[in-house]
Amino acid sequence: MKDQVFTVGLTGGIGSGKTTVANMFADLGVTLIDTDLIAHALTNTNGAAIEAIKNAFGADFIQFSGAMDRAKMRLHVFGQPEEKKRLEAILHPLIREETEAAAKRSTGIYTIFVVPLLVESKSWKQRVSRVLVVDCSEQIQIQRVMSRNGMTREQVLAIMQTQASRDERLKAADDIIDSERDLAEIRQDVRRLHDKYLQLSKAAQTNTTQ
Ligand code: ATP
Repeated sequence: MKDQVFTVGLTGGIGSGKTTVANMFADLGVTLIDTDLIAHALTNTNGAAIEAIKNAFGADFIQFSGAMDRAKMRLHVFGQPEEKKRLEAILHPLIREETEAAAKRSTGIYTIFVVPLLVESKSWKQRVSRVLVVDCSEQIQIQRVMSRNGMTREQVLAIMQTQASRDERLKAADDIIDSERDLAEIRQDVRRLHDKYLQLSKAAQTNTTQ
């Protein structure tokens, strides 16, 4: 299968509405490649990252089921940037490998990569043809995550502080979906963008075959 020429990177802060918007594209038949799901699979039972994590961090970080102990690892890397880097050095290349393999299998006209920390990553920004940011105010983000995950305001803010700011994301955006609108309006925006992406992917294919 040949590499797709046109790809979209869909991103947004925690609770911004990425999954909601991504699912609307999936309803239109677009192939989604979700890097969070890939990371989860890699650290699940029999996941491709398990052996390397066991060697680097010790068997204590692997549960009886053979999956990484996520809660323990989260606590371990929290506030320890060097340890976080060590984990990322194992996971990031594997995520990238799996992502590219999934992109090769994709049969759609274009593919959307769902990448929560896309704006924070130079290599991801270079990999995609267009950056689509799902945007909402920080207050809405906090409210949504508090009610969905039962977290405190402080816990949500602590996660948001590890992510790019709203301004940084908006600066990196080629396209923006305002996720404060109601779902029917967002679905219309998604349709419009889908039409635009179909045109851009056709143009990109024509350019490479000329
Ligand atoms: P995370 O980064 O935590 O994975 P996310 O960016 O994928 O989150 P979603 O899971 O899509 O965000 O949305 C977060 C919450 O906000 C969900 O409970 C979702 O139902 C709700 N939500 C998203 N968009 C809207 C909207 N336009 N109107 C009302 N609620 C919304």
